[in-house]
Amino acid sequence: MEDEVSGEEYLFKIVIIGDSAVGKSNLLSRYARNEFDMNTKATIGVEFQTQCVDIDGKEVKAQIWDTAGQERFRAVTSAYYRGAVGALIVYDISRRSTFDSISRWLEELKTHCDTTVARMLVGNKCDLENIREVSVEDGKGLAEAEGLFFMETSALDSTNVKTAFEIIIKEIYNNVS
Ligand code: GDP
Ligand code: MG
Repeated sequence: MEDEVSGEEYLFKIVIIGDSAVGKSNLLSRYARNEFDMNTKATIGVEFQTQCVDIDGKEVKAQIWDTAGQERFRAVTSAYYRGAVGALIVYDISRRSTFDSISRWLEELKTHCDTTVARMLVGNKCDLENIREVSVEDGKGLAEAEGLFFMETSALDSTNVKTAFEIIIKEIYNNVS
């Protein structure tokens, strides 16, 4: 009944995870507010942003959570993951170590979330082609092996940011409808 009153038909919680400084906060600010920040900020101070998307004439609200920097201390809490139905697992294509961490993030996701959580591997900073350390093939290969969607993005120049979020939102929608 509440849903009918507010006109909201779906609310999906999506978490963004990955090593520090891969661009998680900027992917969210690019998607939700079309903003980008060159400076690294330890804390953005916002827990989540909500975006409304129309799918098949249904209003879907995506509540997208940002870690606010606690991944530095390896202390992303279970509360962060609670109720998540989607996840973007992000690395930086110009820093190999952030790609090597993906398996650890996938493990953490498995321990906290249902196996049905929609997952996308995101290779961010694809504008930094000249200092690339992770090939597109490596990204694709890992995604295929783990059964994840895959996309390279740039929060700086906006490449694929909207597409990445929309693919994951549509996948969640398909899972629940
Ligand atoms: P987080 O720690 O994962 O939330 O990373 P941030 O969003 O704070 O970004 C870390 C740094 O990377 C900042 O200096 C950003 O300006 C920069 N950054 C984020 N996304 C991109 C991108 O797509 N391209 C480039 N060149 N820099 C980026
Ligand atoms: Mg951040």
